[in-house]
Amino acid sequence: MKTAFLGLGVMGGYMSANLAASGYSVNAWNRTSDRPGVKIALDAGANIVDSIQEAVTDVDIICTCVSDIPDVEAVILGENGVIHFAKPGAIIIDFSTIGSAAARHISQQLEPAQIQFLDAPVSGGDIGAKNGTLTIMVGGNEKIFETAKPILETMGKNIRYCGNVGSGQAVKLCNQILCSLNLVGICEAMLLAEKQGIDPNLVVEICSTGAAGSWALSNLGLKVAHGDFEPGFMIKHILKDLRIIQEMVNSDLPLPGTELADHLFKIVQKLDQGLGGNQGTQAMIRAYNRS
Ligand code: NAP
Repeated sequence: MKTAFLGLGVMGGYMSANLAASGYSVNAWNRTSDRPGVKIALDAGANIVDSIQEAVTDVDIICTCVSDIPDVEAVILGENGVIHFAKPGAIIIDFSTIGSAAARHISQQLEPAQIQFLDAPVSGGDIGAKNGTLTIMVGGNEKIFETAKPILETMGKNIRYCGNVGSGQAVKLCNQILCSLNLVGICEAMLLAEKQGIDPNLVVEICSTGAAGSWALSNLGLKVAHGDFEPGFMIKHILKDLRIIQEMVNSDLPLPGTELADHLFKIVQKLDQGLGGNQGTQAMIRAYNRS
């Protein structure tokens, strides 16, 4: 199978590299040519191309990993998007987090061109992307999922079919609530440790093996404590995800914890002359001390 990968950001750079390193032919494209992910893909054997057209023409599987809903729509349905150049029968796997409604809309728009669509949002962060250990939650036609599975297995370890198109996104939004509220707990536990004169390393080491253990605590706990705010997963992206959740539930389903996390992330987003959203989500701690 010939493949293409569109969007070589923090996640897409490593994911396309793992695909290429597994022996697949990968045409890789990024809007901005000098991003670190472009070199990561190139070094792993991907063929870097200059346009979406060049990337997807005569290709069987097209992976996309960009930012927000308008970005995925631009790459797939836009003037120079995949829809105009992919062959009938091609499969698009979108790894971006965009919510179920957007996934269903894109899938419907692709139907007349006989292009298949799977929503396949991921969890596991840049570390999971680099190590090929992502959790991937997939929505769409089950037979298409089975065809695409070997591709997904080059990037992830826990690959789950969730149901019709949009179902992967539905699970991913639940995941984002868990991630956000985990971080509230981590920040407050770290502040309490500091107040009691307890070494944060001790809190992470001990609590991560007990009932409070989580990916977030093991991977972000010490970063919170040590003020390492490099992304990882940027605050601007989690705010996108919380926005999608809040727009979807409207006022039908009160989610006070999600609202609190959203509020704390927004405080940090405004820091650094408005550039605070480019930090990793663990920078939530800055909402507490505002420096
Ligand atoms: P990122 O580093 O900010 O990369 C975003 C990528 O999308 C870049 O390649 C960017 O191209 C491209 N892009 C954005 N808008 C575009 C447009 N209109 N047209 C063409 N390309 C466009 O983000 P990321 O961390 O890789 O995340 C990508 C997606 O995965 C997001 O939906 C995010 O929520 C999700 N995700 C991220 C993580 C994580 O830990 N980072 C984990 C799970 C899920 P340029 O380089 O030209 O800007």
